[in-house]
Amino acid sequence: MSQIVFIDGKFYPRERAKISVLDHGLLYGDGVFEGIRLYNGSVFRLKEHLLRLFSSAKYIALKIPLTIEELTWAVVETCRRNKLRNAYIRLVVTRGEGDLGLAPWLCKIPSVIVIADKIQLYSEEAYTKGLKLLTVPTQRMSIAAVNPRVKSCNYLNNILAKLEGHNAGVTEALMLDSKGFVVECTADNIFIVKNKVLCTPPTYLGALQGITRDCIIELATEMGYKVNEEAFTRFEIFDADECFMTGTGAEVVPVVNLDARPIGNGRPGSVTKRLIKGFRDLVSRGGVSLGANLPRPRRLGDVWAKARRQ
Ligand code: PMP
Repeated sequence: MSQIVFIDGKFYPRERAKISVLDHGLLYGDGVFEGIRLYNGSVFRLKEHLLRLFSSAKYIALKIPLTIEELTWAVVETCRRNKLRNAYIRLVVTRGEGDLGLAPWLCKIPSVIVIADKIQLYSEEAYTKGLKLLTVPTQRMSIAAVNPRVKSCNYLNNILAKLEGHNAGVTEALMLDSKGFVVECTADNIFIVKNKVLCTPPTYLGALQGITRDCIIELATEMGYKVNEEAFTRFEIFDADECFMTGTGAEVVPVVNLDARPIGNGRPGSVTKRLIKGFRDLVSRGGVSLGANLPRPRRLGDVWAKARRQ
């Protein structure tokens, strides 16, 4: 069976799932996206992902042509049609087709794309033994430029950092801001633990408000740990008892080494292990079930047809 992709209200087999070469998502990285997980037939924290998508879109002044309910249906239906129970879902909203200039106002209507695919996970060893991180030269973008809190389709900053890490033999890289504060990794948030108190960089430094980051803050607080959202530098990581990363794809991964120096005793710590377990329990409950009775949005097909006719 061919993979089925949702584009602008219709479903296409992957070979025919195409968008215009004049789409500004392609020409300029003008768009926003979400990476979402399907666990055992339920879409995890879909509402939160959709709300973040709308916040990102608002920041770049892009009007998503579908409602939260319509997007929910599109995501669920794409998973259903692909007969998936566990998957990684990519929801993309591009500025749409325009001309060769930058002008977003000349793009008639944003395109909405949903791709659901099998998940590529870190090895089990990464979770039991932990990962090594390296601080890379490419800095996280300034919040005074395109605020990196927006999950935009322009990930070149992160891609360069990822490449620098990869060339030096690590799977994930640590990114700092221009003052030397730790912000996050290339596709994951970061936490440190010192004397059982957790700390993660605040979003005002330009860290993404990760859905997994939010889950961990909730979980750790429920477990009775104090969680601070405070700026810190590499000093605090070297001095920490434990360190871990969080992300939709990665989930919760222990970090045991930074820049060739062990963190704590160089092994995943007890708080991290508790949180890994707690997070795995959390994803197995709740979420939007693929079995949910969601009515097919009636106007779906017309949205793009009407806009393109004008
Ligand atoms: N930071 C960046 C730059 C990311 O791309 C991601 C992945 N979406 C994260 C952090 C983690 O966020 P989440 O937990 O929502 O996947």
